[in-house]
Amino acid sequence: METYSGKGVSGGVAIGRICVYRKGRRQVKRVRITDADAEVSRYEAAREETVRQLGALYDKACREVGEAGAAIFEGHQMILDDEDYNRSVASIIRSQEVNAEYAVAATGDHFARMFAAMDDAYMRERAADVWDVSERLLQALGGEWDGRLSLHEPVILVAEELAPSETVQLPREKVLSIVTIRGSANSHTAILARTMAIPALVETELDPDAVDGKTGIVDGTEGLFYVEPDEETISALRERQRKEQERRELLQRLKGKESVTLDGQRLKLYANIGNVRDLAAVIQNDAEGVGLFRSEFLYLESDRYPTEEEQFRVYRQVAETLAGRRVVIRTLDIGADKQCGYFEMEHEENPALGCRAIRICLSRPELFQTQLRALFRASAFGKLAILYPMITSVWEMQRIRETVALVKEELGAQGIAFGEPEQGIMIETPAAALISDELAREADFFSIGTNDLTQYALAVDRQNPKLDRFYDAHHPAVLRMISMVVENAHRAGIRAGICGELGADLSLTREFLAMGVDELSVPPGSILPIRKLVRETNVEAYRAGR
Ligand code: PEP
Ligand code: MG
Repeated sequence: METYSGKGVSGGVAIGRICVYRKGRRQVKRVRITDADAEVSRYEAAREETVRQLGALYDKACREVGEAGAAIFEGHQMILDDEDYNRSVASIIRSQEVNAEYAVAATGDHFARMFAAMDDAYMRERAADVWDVSERLLQALGGEWDGRLSLHEPVILVAEELAPSETVQLPREKVLSIVTIRGSANSHTAILARTMAIPALVETELDPDAVDGKTGIVDGTEGLFYVEPDEETISALRERQRKEQERRELLQRLKGKESVTLDGQRLKLYANIGNVRDLAAVIQNDAEGVGLFRSEFLYLESDRYPTEEEQFRVYRQVAETLAGRRVVIRTLDIGADKQCGYFEMEHEENPALGCRAIRICLSRPELFQTQLRALFRASAFGKLAILYPMITSVWEMQRIRETVALVKEELGAQGIAFGEPEQGIMIETPAAALISDELAREADFFSIGTNDLTQYALAVDRQNPKLDRFYDAHHPAVLRMISMVVENAHRAGIRAGICGELGADLSLTREFLAMGVDELSVPPGSILPIRKLVRETNVEAYRAGR
């Protein structure tokens, strides 16, 4: 048995077979063809298209980062011009009577392995270039591959690192647990694992090839990963699994009960979700609704801008499924670690301080209007609310209101039904917290995003695992801002909630009640444990003892 330690970012125990997720490896099907000439021509057309794309990328990179920075694309074009590479693809198509995709994948694999085995470090690095070029060719050949991993059985997924766009596309019923070598506790990948309620570890030092296909146990609570565990470990962890299951079953008794303290203070408990697949967990855990639907995952799951109609269908489905329960949908929060290729964002030195969230929406009116139209239309079908992320100034809210007025006017003129959703502000920058008295006049409610508020208040990059110990969401600066925002909200007669991960921290639930926080929006699996604690709390007594 090998034991690896990592950082547990989502608790619980998972036992199963280990499967290594390798980036960029698409699973290409081998298909028999009858017309080899036609298949070679198809390859030629894809090759020409890829040469054209790389030329455009080279020109763009030259303008933006200079010739030296653009050289990589020139190198990729050279691979496409390489006679050996092209001859190999054509010869596989003809000799094996197979599709061009298969021939490209096989050729790419062969060439990449050849480079990877070379002594010269420069040549070894060319293996990655061959992979890249082959990927581009495969995309040009059909582009039907959507990055989704197909798994035949539930597995423990081990990866170097997972981007939020990759995590959100995982076939969740087949993923028992996630273990990554890199990654931070505050990243969206960790947040998604908690939303899916699967154990997860980051920063686990291991060699993926050494564990692939073996049996593993992930202990997300203790931050341990056992490979080929012995009988004793298996039975100890099975026992832990059984106890956790028992605890979950006990919590089921709280379903249908109110989240109210012994002295009568109510706390609304909502769930955070990333897409419609999370709705089952919202209902199972008896949330009062959805307090944060991160709509950007709709964009991250797609390879092009989702249309108004596509978005409308999703928002309507959420509103209707939760039949009358409140659903807060946050407008697009792309940027920082949530990158979407087709947005073609310019390179930024500091993406967390860059063009993200509302800043993108205010600079791309068509994009924002499309989402707002879908949201206003869907709000005719349920109790929707809209939440605007990354607000720092009053003027941003005024621009948003102008755009909203335009959208409503257009919908009205077109005779399209729409509702009147509440509109709230995410307080996730120190600037917004400090002017929350003024912002309160511009909003129907506040939702405090403690993940970013902590990052910006403490000047600690939430993506950087080396800084995890400096990323202290319990820091007095963060807690004082939360308290201040709640006070300012109440003074203006609006509600204030927390939708960042800190909302699920049971060691602070009493403190939040004492501050007067009205609502928490947390991963679905955290709803019932918080309800239990709320029902056991006397806020007055807690306040007196602070
Ligand atoms: C936050 O910043 O607290 C938040 C809820 O948003 P996200 O984690 O998606 O940035
Ligand atoms: Mg945020």
